[in-house]
Amino acid sequence: MSDVRPIAPGAVRWIARTLEDAGYETWAVGGAVRDALLGRPSVDWDLATRATPKQVRRTFRRTVPIGVEHGTVGVLARDGIMYEVTTFRRDVETDGRHAVVEFAERIEEDLSRRDFTINAIAWHPLRDQLYDPFGGGADLNTRTLRTVGAAADRFREDYLRILRAVRFAGRFDLQIEDTTWAELTALTEYLPTLSPERIREELMKVLSADARPSRALGLYRDAGINTVLYPEIDELADSHWEKAVKIVEALPVNRPMLRLGALLRPVDEASAAAFLVRLRLSNADTDAVAHLSGAPELPPPTPEEEVQRRWLSRHGGQVMKGVARLDLAAARAGCADRSSTEVVEAWRAMRAVLRSCPPLVVGDLAIDGRDLIALGLKPGPVFRDVLQQLLDWVLGDPSRNERDGLLLRAEEVTRRLDSGRHSEGRS
Ligand code: ATP
Ligand code: MG
Repeated sequence: MSDVRPIAPGAVRWIARTLEDAGYETWAVGGAVRDALLGRPSVDWDLATRATPKQVRRTFRRTVPIGVEHGTVGVLARDGIMYEVTTFRRDVETDGRHAVVEFAERIEEDLSRRDFTINAIAWHPLRDQLYDPFGGGADLNTRTLRTVGAAADRFREDYLRILRAVRFAGRFDLQIEDTTWAELTALTEYLPTLSPERIREELMKVLSADARPSRALGLYRDAGINTVLYPEIDELADSHWEKAVKIVEALPVNRPMLRLGALLRPVDEASAAAFLVRLRLSNADTDAVAHLSGAPELPPPTPEEEVQRRWLSRHGGQVMKGVARLDLAAARAGCADRSSTEVVEAWRAMRAVLRSCPPLVVGDLAIDGRDLIALGLKPGPVFRDVLQQLLDWVLGDPSRNERDGLLLRAEEVTRRLDSGRHSEGRS
């Protein structure tokens, strides 16, 4: 990587030039510089400057006060992208969760408050000059993750750095340096003091942005992070865990809910629910992942298609799509007792059934509650039982879904339910 030089978008150079011309020293910092040195495409170029937020806002025509109290101003460039420009900062007080910062004069102070050496490299987009006081470039060369300064202090200042360490080590395939690893594992017990949102976002970044999430997830387990944050997956036997992680890895990035579903698949329903509640996803995501992880694999094709109808009736077409992807990933990862071709066949059979639009839910039946009232039934919980039993009958053969047959059947079912109740009363 030593001969790789960052190449910044024109807008980054324009912002730097404008600020430097106004007399304010300005550097590109953070993830974009690191990614460029790794030869990876850089997104999210961040700039650090000597100018105060007020001065940044006076220098540019179109700005957004993103987090002025933390020193950050968004500058809208001509490429339509907003770049974050942050005043040099130093920490004056930290408590493991928050930091009180003040503005600083020198880039070195700003870099020294950053978490890892690889994240503490500055690059001057006009002079094409690297400023790397903590040896981040050398660590990238040897693929080492190391804190800036004493690991114990840096993790105690902000316990989120424990999660960031394993995320970066996983994503960039870095070895965590011995002291950094020793302190990190010694301090995991403090992770629950972080807000649930920050904890969740870290896991979501692993799932949604890491092409090889097995490494970061493996570190979550090895470091004891799962023990304190995610006991439900920590309790999995090694073989189940390894299989789940392989399947997660076979799923695409940018589909974090699918990957989460794969991770929770070997976990029982109650534990998966507890996990998801603690993660505090939106209600919609929580439901989707719970259904996905709780559904059985797609049944193999059958000529009568009854198995397919029953599966779809129980879990729905949306969940079916997700399960198909999980099954396919499992087959591709060599973690299923069938081939991907067989999964594709099973999926095709499901889609064929869906296309033929058979009745799958009570609402699809050719009779409804009003018909039951006409038969003399009193509305109540028994309605649900009757309709459910009719649906069960129709799932066996969709041609049974016509009015007259269903009405006859409804009478029969009602009689049976009645006599059932009477005999219960007698016993
Ligand atoms: P990503 O690709 O995940 O965005 P990133 O390095 O850009 O990686 P950000 O969270 O966007 O990570 O933060 C930008 C930079 O700010 C980091 O590179 C690091 O220098 C610094 N930073 C962010 N969070 C912390 C933290 N908790 N402690 C210290 N420095 C941090
Ligand atoms: Mg970033």
